Amino acid sequence: MPVPEEPSNPLPRPPALPAGAPAGPGRVGVLALQGAFREHRLAFERLGAEVREVRKPGQLDGLDGVVIPGGESTTMAKLMAAYGFDRALPAFHAAGGGVWGTCAGAIAVATEIDGYPDQPRLALLDLAVARNAYGRQVASFEADLDVRGIAGPFRGVFIRAPRILRVGDGLETLSVYDGDPVAVAAGRTVASVFHPELSGDDRFHALVLARWIGTPQNGVDS
Ligand code: GLN
Repeated sequence: MPVPEEPSNPLPRPPALPAGAPAGPGRVGVLALQGAFREHRLAFERLGAEVREVRKPGQLDGLDGVVIPGGESTTMAKLMAAYGFDRALPAFHAAGGGVWGTCAGAIAVATEIDGYPDQPRLALLDLAVARNAYGRQVASFEADLDVRGIAGPFRGVFIRAPRILRVGDGLETLSVYDGDPVAVAAGRTVASVFHPELSGDDRFHALVLARWIGTPQNGVDS
């Protein structure tokens, strides 16, 4: 598939909020190439963030952070390469932009994909993951999770989720299920193997938004 050129004039930063508007709680992008992006957009909008669906690298400009949603990780990797996100997302991240991968998105941000050494990945978090590793019988399930920074249980929706096999030094584990980490972070970079956008509870999105707005630089606070 031909790789489209990055637009020579990336979209300008969106206009500032009108005078008198409440302080803007962040500019968030949701990668909208494939998968469950709409629910992420709605959750961040309920939190008052300005949300943009991102389909071209230039649309990352001016964002505090971007979500890579769940979907199918090999399809998403192909689309990311075709549209230039395989270079644009690491560049956005290196410049201090926040990135949160959920489910297939968590596979996309990992450094290692067990059994799939050739699957393209962004390698933004030092993680090893195994795809679809919660077994055939219970490939999809829900469980109440303890999440660091969230008071009380958070309903985790797991859909053919990857299992996190290894977490690199210096990463923060935010939640564990059945002995395995299921949400991890380093500064403004977050991976969760479940789907907080499907739980009807926006507290995980609020946690990520606080990291993107309140954390000075990737890794600095971790
Ligand atoms: N099993 C999918 C994959 O490997 C991820 C599933 C999801 O994102 N819900 O790509």
